[in-house]
Amino acid sequence: MEPVTVIGAGLAGSECAVQLARRGVPVRLCEMKPLRRSPAHRTDGPAELVCSNSLRSDSPDTPIGLLHAELRRLGSVILGEADLARVPAGEALAVDRERFSAGVEHALASAPGLERAAGEVESLPPGDVVVATGPLTSEALTRALSAWTGDKLYFYDSIAPIVAADSVDESVTFRASRWGRGDGADYLNLPLDEAQYRAFVAALLSAEKVVPHAFEEPRYFEGCLPIEVMAERGVETLAHGPMKPVGLEDPRTGRRPYAVVQLRQEDLAGTAYNLVGFQTRLTWPEQRRVFRTLPGLAQAEFLRMGQIHRNTFIDAPRLLGPDLSLRAEPRVWFAGQISGVEGYVESAASGYLVALAVAARRQGRAFVPPPAETALGALYRHVTGAAHLPGSEYQPSNVTFGLFPPLPGRVPKSARREAHAARARAALRAWLPDAEADGLAPVAVVAR
Ligand SMILES: Cc1cc2nc3c(=O)[nH]c(=O)nc-3n(C[C@H](O)[C@H](O)[C@H](O)COP(=O)(O)OP(=O)(O)OC[C@H]3O[C@@H](n4cnc5c(N)ncnc54)[C@H](O)[C@@H]3O)c2cc1C
Repeated sequence: MEPVTVIGAGLAGSECAVQLARRGVPVRLCEMKPLRRSPAHRTDGPAELVCSNSLRSDSPDTPIGLLHAELRRLGSVILGEADLARVPAGEALAVDRERFSAGVEHALASAPGLERAAGEVESLPPGDVVVATGPLTSEALTRALSAWTGDKLYFYDSIAPIVAADSVDESVTFRASRWGRGDGADYLNLPLDEAQYRAFVAALLSAEKVVPHAFEEPRYFEGCLPIEVMAERGVETLAHGPMKPVGLEDPRTGRRPYAVVQLRQEDLAGTAYNLVGFQTRLTWPEQRRVFRTLPGLAQAEFLRMGQIHRNTFIDAPRLLGPDLSLRAEPRVWFAGQISGVEGYVESAASGYLVALAVAARRQGRAFVPPPAETALGALYRHVTGAAHLPGSEYQPSNVTFGLFPPLPGRVPKSARREAHAARARAALRAWLPDAEADGLAPVAVVAR
């Protein structure tokens, strides 16, 4: 049997490769590290956690905790190794990242029929392929994939800056929530008159921006546009967007300012503020220069600069069929963040599902997706579009109860989580015989 090529030994690719091997499907797992690294990857091992070492809540009445429980039940290598590398973190499942990666390495090395290939994959190889190259898929492969995925491939996530609370001059600001909502004073507002506003827009337009690579045409979420991109659309755009003053009256003048920058408390202790809606791709020195021209921010200390990071994902509901392979090229599957799931565990879960789908095809069986009521099924609903309104824009998502089918009848809010969890457990039990039709019993985690 020809091996299935899995590209990317991250969370999704490692899970997918091990699950395929356990089902007797030969696998060739290609990984560009250590020869090449994305801007976020630092280590040489598989399943690298690029940022936090937390796999989030392990509480089974949360959507992510439910996903943990389901993956454990199914013998997920990522959850199994996370449990072995667990460090104390309250109800969260946090891990020693090196031990965790070493555990995944051990699982890959001991999986039967799994060969490894080092090096960047620059174009789709022949035969069955699983693309699991993550949000920072290398540029060459991204370019090659666009031949299959069309124009919907490059997206950028932009992050707003954060300033230290004690560096804001509150004497020129006022506390208020729009229309007095919440406790009426949740935001610190920086008021601008017309001249200040126009000067700020002009400064934004002329400021230096981080330049994307030549082949990358930035595609932003409409709801999360960088402010300088909004400013380019017209001088009044920001005053009708993140800087809109409606519902905000300055108590000192009794009037609505021409424009407002809202600062939202970032931490419980109130030591930091987020500049609401100010995601940006200005260079860091330019952010300091331009934002310090705003009222109250002349001495601002920036704790985090606005940032932009590439988040490559495909328009999965449009491009993928029910077994998560490309409709236009069914020998190609997509797993992990590149398919539009968000998060370490969601990526692993996606890798698991794709392994089931590939194994089913190889074994001449129909792929039976997980029931919609399970956390795995909710992710499957997300990727295939069943959880979304027809025609709505596809955006990456963590697992949330919003992706599950609504609970039947009227369930009081306080009982909803447990009702979701109980329904999911029952649905998973009913599906397991199908999932295990290939003879694979869930694998017990063995301490090493
Ligand atoms: C900066 C950043 C921070 C994040 N922080 C968090 C967080 O704290 N918590 C969280 O839950 N999620 C976080 N995420 C989101 C996401 O869940 C993780 O990126 C997750 O690792 C995605 O899993 P994956 O398997 O899809 O991709 P990855 O884990 O990134 O794995 C992809 C693998 O493919 C390899 N690869 C890429 N291109 C090629 C190629 N052409 N040929 C061969 N190999 C290739 C890469 O080297 C990598 O090993 C973050 C994402 C980013 C970008």
